[in-house]
Amino acid sequence: MEVDTPLSSTDIGPSPALTVVVPMYNEEDVLPLFVDRMRPVLDGLQADYEVVAVDDGSKDATPVLLQRFLRDWPQLRVVRLRANAGHQAAISAGLLAARGEWIVTIDADLQDPPETIADMYHAALEQDVDVVYGVRTDRSTDSAFKRHTAGAFYRLMRRLSKLDISHDAGDFRLMSRATVDAVNALPENNRVLRLVVPTLGFPSTTVGYRRDERAAGESKYPLSKMIRLSVDSVTGFSLAPLRLASWFSVIGFAVAILLMIYVVISKINGGVASGWASTVVIVAAFSALQLLCLGILGEYVGRTYNAMQQRPAYYVAYDSLRATELQPTDEDRHVVER
Ligand code: UDP
Ligand code: MG
Repeated sequence: MEVDTPLSSTDIGPSPALTVVVPMYNEEDVLPLFVDRMRPVLDGLQADYEVVAVDDGSKDATPVLLQRFLRDWPQLRVVRLRANAGHQAAISAGLLAARGEWIVTIDADLQDPPETIADMYHAALEQDVDVVYGVRTDRSTDSAFKRHTAGAFYRLMRRLSKLDISHDAGDFRLMSRATVDAVNALPENNRVLRLVVPTLGFPSTTVGYRRDERAAGESKYPLSKMIRLSVDSVTGFSLAPLRLASWFSVIGFAVAILLMIYVVISKINGGVASGWASTVVIVAAFSALQLLCLGILGEYVGRTYNAMQQRPAYYVAYDSLRATELQPTDEDRHVVER
């Protein structure tokens, strides 16, 4: 399975000025629109570039379309993951494959306008910073549910992680080679990039943009993936929940002592044992608390376990840049030629 590691930036060919990393999962509807809009922007940059399209194990015609676009867009490169690994893992795969001096990550659905890449690139060169965050100045096109959950997520993470993460920063950002090398060198596998990059603390600036509506197709972020991202974020960047468990146990202990005193006093006064209802309530409440603490501990133990196993967050099946050495598996070929 040596084919699974994509070559990193320095291994193959000259490094372009700019790499655009685009994660794609079942994006057949939006892909032609994306190419139509992205290509003129990049061609107009007057810098050499590459586009790394990371096909995150799509089950629709995305790989077929990508093969078609490969033929007449020489700057396009396709990295296909063997199975759906998720948005963050797909971006991580793209960052490892990227060869550019500057690297942009952008969604495929045109919610992040490609034209902003030019602004980011110029801002980086002029202001001599390592990171340019795309900041959403207007999210009115996202659903109310998405806006509220995202707002709560960023507020919570700001408090828990004490990081200065911009309220509306998503995964649309430009990074220098040094930044991407630093991210690639991190041992953790389930990286939440929108938190990892600010943690580095490299010099940065922001560029505002209007978040558009998804150009075609449907959101690939069901609630289950949003929850996964939140759990990864909280456990990856904060020990506060662990401390919460300790505080709960302190409170539980205090309550237990008070109860003991109460029992002793009522015994001395010859009082009758109080009803079973309160006992049941107390037992139930404390069992719940214990389970909660166990659950929190389990999250961290699980993470430690995962980190120890060093299990990759994704597997690469195919890289168009190495197409001669790296034949797609039969299964992938089947998809491509379908
Ligand atoms: N995506 C991915 N793997 C996934 C889910 C999403 O690569 O498992 C990509 C998707 O193709 C898109 C980007 O991540 O380019 C953001 O996803 P989406 O637009 O569906 O999320 P939303 O904007 O609804 O939060
Ligand atoms: Mg989207």
